[in-house]
Parts: sequence; C-alpha cells; structure tokens
Amino acid sequence: MESLAVEVAAYSSLQQKVRIGGFRPMKANEKFFNRKMTNNTNAIRPGNAMTVDVEDYFQVSAFDPYVDRARWGEYESRVEANTDRILAKFEQYNVKATFFTLGWVADKYPAVVRRIVEGGHELASHGWDHIMVTRLTREEFGKDIQRAKQTLEDVTGAQVDGYRAPSYSFTSKNNWAHDVLAEQGYRYSSSVAPIKHDLYGIPDAPRFAHTYADGAVIELPITTTRFLGRNIPCGGGGWFRLYPYALSSWAINRVRTDDGERSIFYFHPWEIDPQQPRVDGLSLRTRFRHYQNLTKMEPKIERLLKDFDWGTMAEVFSEELKLN
Ligand SMILES: [Zn+2]
Repeated sequence: MESLAVEVAAYSSLQQKVRIGGFRPMKANEKFFNRKMTNNTNAIRPGNAMTVDVEDYFQVSAFDPYVDRARWGEYESRVEANTDRILAKFEQYNVKATFFTLGWVADKYPAVVRRIVEGGHELASHGWDHIMVTRLTREEFGKDIQRAKQTLEDVTGAQVDGYRAPSYSFTSKNNWAHDVLAEQGYRYSSSVAPIKHDLYGIPDAPRFAHTYADGAVIELPITTTRFLGRNIPCGGGGWFRLYPYALSSWAINRVRTDDGERSIFYFHPWEIDPQQPRVDGLSLRTRFRHYQNLTKMEPKIERLLKDFDWGTMAEVFSEELKLN
C-alpha cells in the first residue's frame, strides 16, 4: 500500500522546486502562454477538458464504511445547489464542461441534470450509485452502467457517450470493464488513474488516450505529470485542494510543453461547499482528505477558469472520438 506520507513527500519535494525557482511558477503570463500553445495546435478546439463528478458529499467512496446506502435519503442533500453554483461560475467564465453524473442523482434531482444540458454542457455517466467497480462482478457492472446511461438519457434527451468510474476504480482486477462499456454503447471512459494510490489506480497504464475493445472505447486517463520517475496526479481532486495553485498551473502547462497533451481536470460539487454537514466517526485520513481546504476551493477554481482554456471532453478529444 502506497502511504499518504509518500505521496505527500513526493508532492512536497515538487512544491519546493517550484518555490526555489527550479521550475517556473506560472503567474500573470500563464493565460497568454496557454492560449498561445492552444492556438499553435488547433485554434478551434479548447486546450483542456474541464469535468465535474456530480455526486453528493455523503456518496464519496471514502465514506462507504461510515454511510449506509440505504440511509442516503436521510442526509441533507446539497448536490442541486452546489451544481447550480458551478453552472453559474462556468457561465460567468464562458466555460463548457463535461458533467459525469450519478444515475441516482438524475433519478432524484432531474431538474438540475436538465439544467446541465440546457447550459450547453456535456452530460456523461458516473455509474448508478457510486459503488466502486472493484466491488462489482462483470454482470453487475453492466447493469449499473446501463441503468445510469438510460436514466441520464431519459431525463434529458441528451446522448451519453462518456463514463467515469467512481473513484477511478478501473484496476488490474477488472480488466473486462472497458469491454462492458463498449457492450453498453459508451464511446469513451475517463476511469483510469495511472498512479499508485491506496484506493485506486493502474500505475503502469498509459498516461494519455488509448483504446480498448478493438477501438470501440477510448480511455482518456486523468492527467498526471512525471516527477522523480513517478506519475504524479495533477488533474484535480484532493491534490488541487491541498497544494498551492502555482503547482497545479505549472503541471498543466508542463503536460502541454513536455507531453504535447491536453489536461483533464476534475472536481466535485461538495468541494466548493464548506458548510456541508459533517459526517461523524471518520478516520483521520478520510477526514483530512475530505474536509481540508474546502474554503479555498472556489477561488482556486475561478483562477483555473480564468487562466486556462477549457472545453468538454467531447470537444477537446473530438479527433480521437472520430476514430471509434
Ligand atoms: Zn465520484
């Protein structure tokens, strides 16, 4: 098991390099820099993909041992209000994004899922009720993603092509997962984290687009950068919340310059909600990962929206998706 301490040490060392000037922290010129790079590759396609995993604060995988699925209805729901705030922010900065949404959320709160589509964003699937794929059989997984796709499409009339596994839970234990996505009519997945982590990840997976099921499904892994011989996550989530903004913006630019690639960034509606009700009895690690820096998240996201050029997965990876 890769401990949190090792991850923190690797990232801290990277952070130190940024501070002492070994790497250039991106400041005022980063927007220009990124747009220039974007224009060099393709003037029409946005440079990077912005994504949101639409789930409520009590549905995260780390809370599985503490929150009984059967009692989800008893928790105060915050997902509608938080998603609406994100939609307003995206409108303010003229950003279109992909919303990987739980079928459960679409079933309970169809209006907000319709507002996602009405806002011109891409609707995609985050499975039915956030059970990690590592806990499902092939048959159960097929039913889960079929039900989620059907519900999201029925509620909105939009076509759902994309899928992201709860907690990036495509691992070496479920190497049938991409084939099942193809069987259920999905065209792409963003479910692999090519990193070492105690809960998820395939450390030796390719870091960028690759295909499965004879090209029927494209995997677009969450973004990493190379540092000290390791893949370091830099595509959002807890890392973005925990570490200084300069580190994330440096990493996104580095993926562009060193790899010639587009970044995929993700965050959750509950991450911009410092007032969310607290769940009792959590382990120290889970409490830290979930609640740390929630107040800093919204201003950091705003900076990211201002500094880089964002679009939906379907827009940013339109060339790849044309091929499957
Ligand atoms: Zn999730």
